[in-house]
Amino acid sequence: MIHLAVPNLTGNERKYLNDCIDTTFVSSVGEYVNRIEKMSAELTGTQYGVATSSGTTGLHLALIASGVKRDDLVIIPSFTFIATANAVVHAGATPWFMDIRKDSWTIDVDQIKRELEKNTKFESDSSGSRRLIHTESGKRVAAIMPVYTLGNIPEMDQLMKIAEEYEIPVIADAAAAMGAEYMGKKTGELSPLTVFSFNGNKTVTAGGGGMVVGNDKALLDLCKHISTTARVSADYDFDMVGYNYRMTNIQAAVGVAQLEQLEKFVNRKREIRRFYNSTFENNDKVELFAEPENCNSACWFSGLVIKSGNSQVIKSMCEFLRFRDIEARPFWKPVHLQKPYADAFKANNLSVTEELWDKIITLPCSTNILDEELLYVSQCVEEGLKIVL
Ligand SMILES: *Cc1c(COP(=O)(O)O)cnc(C)c1O
Repeated sequence: MIHLAVPNLTGNERKYLNDCIDTTFVSSVGEYVNRIEKMSAELTGTQYGVATSSGTTGLHLALIASGVKRDDLVIIPSFTFIATANAVVHAGATPWFMDIRKDSWTIDVDQIKRELEKNTKFESDSSGSRRLIHTESGKRVAAIMPVYTLGNIPEMDQLMKIAEEYEIPVIADAAAAMGAEYMGKKTGELSPLTVFSFNGNKTVTAGGGGMVVGNDKALLDLCKHISTTARVSADYDFDMVGYNYRMTNIQAAVGVAQLEQLEKFVNRKREIRRFYNSTFENNDKVELFAEPENCNSACWFSGLVIKSGNSQVIKSMCEFLRFRDIEARPFWKPVHLQKPYADAFKANNLSVTEELWDKIITLPCSTNILDEELLYVSQCVEEGLKIVL
C-alpha cells in the first residue's frame, strides 16, 4: 500500500528515545523539551517556544493567553481542520466563520474587513475599556485566527493592519505550515502567536504534540504557565485554573530528531507538489492545489481538484485507487457544515469554501515516497479520471 502521509523516522529518533530511557527523563521535563522549544523558535523566526501536548491544546492556550473568554467571538475560516473551531469552543467562545480565497485556500482578508465594517461597533464596558462588539449578538469580537492552509499563508500584512485597526489579537493556526515563508519572512514572524502541530500526519511529527511560538516574552511565559497547571512554586501553589498541556520528553525526543530534518522534509513535500502539478497541469478534468504568489508554501499535502467532482466522485476515485494499493482521501469538510457548528456565526457568503471542498482529492505525499511510486500513483489517477468521470 502506498499511504497518504506516514512518518519518516530515519534520523536520530531511536537514539534520542533511548537517551530518554537511559536518563529516566521520560515525562514532561527534560533536555529534549528544552531543545524542541528552542529549535522551533529558531526555525520559525521567533525567540520563544512553548511545547504542548497537541496542536489543539496549543491553540487553546494561545486563545486564553490572548484574552479570549467565555461568550466571545473568534474569527476563523470555515475551511480548516475542525480542531481550529474546537479550540475556540474549548476557550468558551464561538467561531465566526469566514470564506477562503480561491487562489490560496486561506481566509479571505477582504471579507474579514467587510464583515467587521458592517457588523461590529466599539462600545465602552462598565470599567471604561473599549470593546469591539458584534452588533447582532452583542458578543465581543476577541480574536482572529487565520489558518495557514497546507502551508499556504494568507495576506498577513493586510490582516495585521485590520486587526490593529479593530484592536483584535491575532493567533495563527500554522499547524501544518512549519517551513513556509511569506514575503521572505518565516511563519512565526507574522503575528504575535503562532501554533504548530506535531501530529503523526504532519510534515514533522513528535508522535503527537504542538508548539506555540512568538517574540513577546510575557505572552509566551503566560502560555507556559497555563500549560503547566498555573503552578507558582513547587509547593502546590497555583494562581489560576491551569491545564496540563505539556509535551513529554519522549515526544520531544522524536520531535527534535524530526526538526533536524525539517528543511529536507519540506523540500521533498515541494518536489512532490511539483511532480503532481507538472503531471496534471494540462489535464482539463482537474485543477491544481492553490499556491499563493507571495508565499513559499510548505506543501503539507498534495493532490488535485476534480473540476466536475463531488463527494461521490471523490469516494469512487479513492475506491478505484485503493484497489491499486494507493491510499487517497477527500479533504476537510468545512466546519460550518459539521453537526456541532451548524448554528455558529457565518459571514454572509461562504461560496468559495462550499464550491471547493468536495472536489478535492489528496494523494500520497509522504516525505519518503519514491519517485517511481509517484509515477505509479499519477498513472493510476489518470486512468481513474477516465473511468470514474
Ligand atoms: C493538525 C491540525 C490541527 C490540530 O493539531 P493536533 O496536533 O492534531 O491537535 C489544527 N489545525 C490544523 C489546520 C491542522 O491541520
